[in-house]
Amino acid sequence: MNKYEKLANIIFPDVTETIDDLEKRYPARNLPEGAEVTRFAPSPTGFLHLGSLFTSMVARKVAFDTKGVFYIRLEDTDTKREVSGSGKDLLVQLNHFGVTPDEGYLGDEESGEYGPYKQSDREHLYRTVIKSLMLRGRAYPCFCTAEELDEIRKEQEANKEIPGYYGKFAKYRDLDVDEAIARIQNGDKYVIRFRSEGDHNNKVTFHDEIRGDIAIAQNDQDIVILKGDGLPTYHFAHACDDHFMRTTTVIRGEEWISSTPIHLDLFEALGFKLPKYAHLPVIMKIDNGSRRKLSKRKDPEASVAHFIEVGFPVESLQVYLMSIANSNFEEWTASSNSFNPDEFKFSFSKMSLDGVLFDQDKLNFFSKELIARFTAEDLYSRILEWSEKFDHEFYNQIKDKKDYVTAILNIERGGEKPRKDYAKYSDIYPIIRFFFNDQYEEITANGYPFNELMNKTVIAEVLKDFAQSNDYSLGSDVWFGSVKELSTRHQFAENNKMYKANKEAYLGHSGDVAEMIRVALTGSKNSPNLYFVIQILGKEEVNRRINKAIEKLS
Ligand code: GLU
Repeated sequence: MNKYEKLANIIFPDVTETIDDLEKRYPARNLPEGAEVTRFAPSPTGFLHLGSLFTSMVARKVAFDTKGVFYIRLEDTDTKREVSGSGKDLLVQLNHFGVTPDEGYLGDEESGEYGPYKQSDREHLYRTVIKSLMLRGRAYPCFCTAEELDEIRKEQEANKEIPGYYGKFAKYRDLDVDEAIARIQNGDKYVIRFRSEGDHNNKVTFHDEIRGDIAIAQNDQDIVILKGDGLPTYHFAHACDDHFMRTTTVIRGEEWISSTPIHLDLFEALGFKLPKYAHLPVIMKIDNGSRRKLSKRKDPEASVAHFIEVGFPVESLQVYLMSIANSNFEEWTASSNSFNPDEFKFSFSKMSLDGVLFDQDKLNFFSKELIARFTAEDLYSRILEWSEKFDHEFYNQIKDKKDYVTAILNIERGGEKPRKDYAKYSDIYPIIRFFFNDQYEEITANGYPFNELMNKTVIAEVLKDFAQSNDYSLGSDVWFGSVKELSTRHQFAENNKMYKANKEAYLGHSGDVAEMIRVALTGSKNSPNLYFVIQILGKEEVNRRINKAIEKLS
């Protein structure tokens, strides 16, 4: 028995399998040429960042486009940051945005042949791989205390040396194996480190699907691969998991570029084939004139939950994020008149290299386009579902009034030029609440915003005439003609042009008359198309509101 074998058997007495056994258990996937296996690997920290949603969507898209496999792996090895139960919440949120995996971690269960898909259930696999490294002298126990590590750091700082655990600073790298065994048997605490054979004076080059070849200093750090709590670090788990789950392209945030040399080092030492890498740009915002990452602490829009709460349709985020992903996507939506990212051919080569700016206006623009394309019935069921969770007042108003609300939502919907005034579900209620009688009472409780320059008696007369004469059977074009007639009856010009040409002859123009009716019926100078407002409220309610307004005028 060589000395490493003795050490490995003491640390991993339960491990009898080898890497070869694992290779057999997780054979190459049987997929057609070109099919990509991608994954999303969130940590259960109770927060789905917009950037992570972006990453997950791109990963899903790449697998979808190539008829490959997209899976989810839960990276729950950082027990300090873990928020219990949030793994499942993540799935709910991902599902909400259509990021459904073909296999992997599914909350209470999982599906697929390459699991377990939750890292905390993979301890045995990591231990097997580390044992094999240790047998080859490429992993060793390190007994450094926090104080010792601190001392090393201070010495490096004082001498302006590269920080970390490497070369002459790797204190336990060459510890005599018998001594290591004695310390372990004595119960001393330790972690397991990787023995790097790299040299940071050398450069290594790897290919990034987005950025091309990247040359970067070789890794020489003896990184921790197994922590004191028995769980692996990200770097080591990445190598093991992406290898045995047979990921073909690792799609992750650009913050991992600087660690990639560690990963190259590990893959090489393990004899694993390197996957392809695509490092996605981070999502930034402009703050006080300079760019910075979207911050979990400062920016509500950093959290995907925020977009769900304020009621952005799933599709709006999907489309917006695809427009961030590929610079030609927006042009494609215009030329294809499709807003379905699944129909779009994604390409890494059309991806921005630098951080991308979060653009609320662009999101609103796409969202208005999309909401304008929904049918009123569809929009009704969406706002019903949304308001039940996030706006109870709105929910109670609309839940038993499907026909009424659908008619309201149908105002100027469809046709050549649909109205595009809602970017999110929470925009709707403020615009349509006057349709509900209790809200109308509330809006007008302190009076009506009639034009101050108009004589109150004239307004009252116009309104009275309107209530008596309005013909509810007219179509919208003809109806506007009837408003002109009403105007001339009360000494208002038919249109603004006529009024301007001869101001002395008139009290105002038909626009002023329409505004009087609008203010009386809605309590506001702005509202959806007046003709439809009147049609939907119906004669009885119109007259009731007109009479109330007249009463207030006197
Ligand atoms: N758990 C890592 C993270 O949340 C995953 C990075 C990766 O995709 O490899 O950042």
